[in-house]
Amino acid sequence: MTYDSSNIFAKILRGEIPCHKVYEDADAIAFMDVMPQSPGHTLILPKAPSRNVLDADPAVLAKILPLVQKIAIAAKTAFDADGISVMQFNEPAGGQTVFHLHYHVVPRYDGQPLKSHTGIMEDGAVLSANADKMKKALG
Ligand code: 5GP
Repeated sequence: MTYDSSNIFAKILRGEIPCHKVYEDADAIAFMDVMPQSPGHTLILPKAPSRNVLDADPAVLAKILPLVQKIAIAAKTAFDADGISVMQFNEPAGGQTVFHLHYHVVPRYDGQPLKSHTGIMEDGAVLSANADKMKKALG
């Protein structure tokens, strides 16, 4: 399978569609998931095109994990979480639905099971407020 630059995250990276951004640098971007499995669910993407870890440049992988850590720490603080799930899926059989490499950071709480994807978009005002919380925690 090859990278298809018409995927939704490539469009976000090109600024063709909006997102609730919490972080950006020359190599990566992080923004709120529109269908959060928990408040504060954040996605982290390298800007370099790859479908997932299976075709990613190892140098890109080496650079993205410190950012995933930074976002995870900020999400734990911003959402007063007991823990964080970091998830990353590869190809449809692996649970992937958008084919530009990304990591999920999901705040978790003791005794609370992970919500499944409902397919229902979160309210834009809620995502905006959650992005602000993340930006504040990132400093
Ligand atoms: P995957 O299953 O590919 O790892 O996850 C893709 C994620 O992207 C899902 O959690 C889904 O809610 C999220 N998503 C899908 N479309 C959009 C979009 O247009 N904007 C944002 N911010 N997230 C999206």
